[in-house]
Amino acid sequence: MTKKEKVDAVLTLLLEEYGPTKCYLEHENPWQLLIATMLSAQCTDARVNIVTKDLFQKYTSVKAFAEADLAELEQDIHSTGFYHNKAKNIIACCRKLLHEYDGEVPSNIDALTGLAGVGRKTANVVRGHCFGIPSVVVDTHVKRVSNLLGLTTNQDPVKIEFDLMKIVPQEKWTDINTQMIAHGRKVCIARRPKCAECVLFPYCTGGQKLQKEKQKT
Ligand code: SF4
Repeated sequence: MTKKEKVDAVLTLLLEEYGPTKCYLEHENPWQLLIATMLSAQCTDARVNIVTKDLFQKYTSVKAFAEADLAELEQDIHSTGFYHNKAKNIIACCRKLLHEYDGEVPSNIDALTGLAGVGRKTANVVRGHCFGIPSVVVDTHVKRVSNLLGLTTNQDPVKIEFDLMKIVPQEKWTDINTQMIAHGRKVCIARRPKCAECVLFPYCTGGQKLQKEKQKT
């Protein structure tokens, strides 16, 4: 089987299992998703959604975040962890959006990653889900699952992003992230993957290796 045949088979199965792309972070516009994604670092999407439900009612615009009191915002986002850095970055990011982009979120990757606290992962989430620009988002699940499947041998998220862009058709770039997240949460769980129940097993070099090691013990 060629690598292309393997990728096609994996993509078909992921689509059958988890459907097309969906965003796990609740939002109504690009700036809300930008802030929600910043809050999601080292925090679950479920927790972020609880916090942003009230947060976006209190701060109703980029301007409101730009003018927020640091200590008060820290309290508001406290339960997402790393709240001091997150609050500082959100205020700095929104000030730049306000003063350099008329309060709008840019879609350009360089402009996005030029904002405080915004790396390629956050930028790609916004580009994919708000602007419909095909974007590969590499989070902890995508990193683990794509390595186990043998789609990459890299550990660096940016290198993985570029590896996946080379082998996954562009129209699937945004889908693959949410599908691998779903798979990573439900089946390919960190340190205890359920390979026996996994539809990707026939294509998964990592899973097959794990099974052989189990049989030896
Ligand atoms: S076969 Fe196992 S290791 Fe491979 S993707 Fe499935 S659960 Fe993960």
